[in-house]
Amino acid sequence: MSEHRDEPANAIAPHERIDAAEAISLLQELVRIRSPFFEEDEMANAVYDWLDERGLEPEYHAVSEPEITGFEGRNVVARIEGTDPDAPTLMLNGHMDTVQLVDGWDEDPLSGRIEDGKCYGQGACDMKGGLVSLLVAFEALADLQLRGDVVLTAVVGEEGPYGLGTYQLLCDGLTDDVDGAIVAEPGPTIAQQELENPALILGSRGGVRYEITVIGDAAHAAHPERGTNAVVDAARIATAFDEMQCATHPVLGSGSVCPLEIRGGDDPLSVPDRCSLAVNRHVVPGETEAVVLEQASALVSELDLDSSVEIELRDVPSEDARFGPYVTNEEHGLVRALADSSERLTGAEPAVGYFSSIGDFNHLGHTAKIPTIMIGPDGDNVHRSGEYVYTDEVGAVARIVADAAAAWLK
Ligand SMILES: [Zn+2]
Repeated sequence: MSEHRDEPANAIAPHERIDAAEAISLLQELVRIRSPFFEEDEMANAVYDWLDERGLEPEYHAVSEPEITGFEGRNVVARIEGTDPDAPTLMLNGHMDTVQLVDGWDEDPLSGRIEDGKCYGQGACDMKGGLVSLLVAFEALADLQLRGDVVLTAVVGEEGPYGLGTYQLLCDGLTDDVDGAIVAEPGPTIAQQELENPALILGSRGGVRYEITVIGDAAHAAHPERGTNAVVDAARIATAFDEMQCATHPVLGSGSVCPLEIRGGDDPLSVPDRCSLAVNRHVVPGETEAVVLEQASALVSELDLDSSVEIELRDVPSEDARFGPYVTNEEHGLVRALADSSERLTGAEPAVGYFSSIGDFNHLGHTAKIPTIMIGPDGDNVHRSGEYVYTDEVGAVARIVADAAAAWLK
């Protein structure tokens, strides 16, 4: 009940509780920790310790996928309990891992060097900057005695296959009571279209991968007409995919298809009788697994090949671990709260955009059906050398998130 709240603590507005200098020093500390996907232990310890030192009661959450990847890791989770069990619950989600360190850096890829308002390092923008925004926003929310809960999830394995860290949150019920999620991926850099920050990314396409096996008939290479060449038929399938038209969605744009890998035939004097083909397929709502499998079968039958063709989707830890598309309603209360806070704190109405590829947000937005919004500090060169994040945006996003969360959960 509001009359029993600690008035002096609440008298400070949520965004005024953000210490930008503290955020930047945490950013540098985290950028200096090497944490490519599946090697996040040191990073998880640092995030845990930071929360623990502030009395925010973090817990490790075990992530395990023994069948395909053999990965065992730990998310870090913390919860601020609200005063009203009927009030909404907000999830703040950020990944602790980065891509593997890429070649081409002309300095230490983990320098955390700051120059001209940019902090450099692999993962600085994707997404240690955003993770720091969420951590300091979470700290700012801790004393506010809000009605709703805030669940902070610092996850592993986002850049690896299947987004295992966030997927484990779903498997273990940590998303069950969540009514809205903020994922602090860098907005403009990953958006389909040019945007200015602050930007709210309200949806994303999904993605699947076809694994296609083409089986022909071997013969001596001197007489190719006597066999059925699986490599040639796989090439015909790849070309047909390349020319395929995909469905279009009003805001997510069109689905897309990209042949990725073709492999077969290694005998110097034989018509190859086996070839495999991998094809990436980005999908929009309505393009379910059944639909895309049916499309591929139709495309292959149309070609009337002599080879036989098996079409499957890539093996996943579980059927619902696929990345499905989603769109969050612009009128949802959390979207409105973020838009209002952005406008109030920056003077500009935030841009709204959509992302074209896949990530943890698909698990939250599609599978868990949580209204999911990405907002994060921007930068450039993500997944490349020279990656940086704008330092002033780390604090700016934290202020917006803290302010909007407090308004939505008050
Ligand atoms: Zn990311």
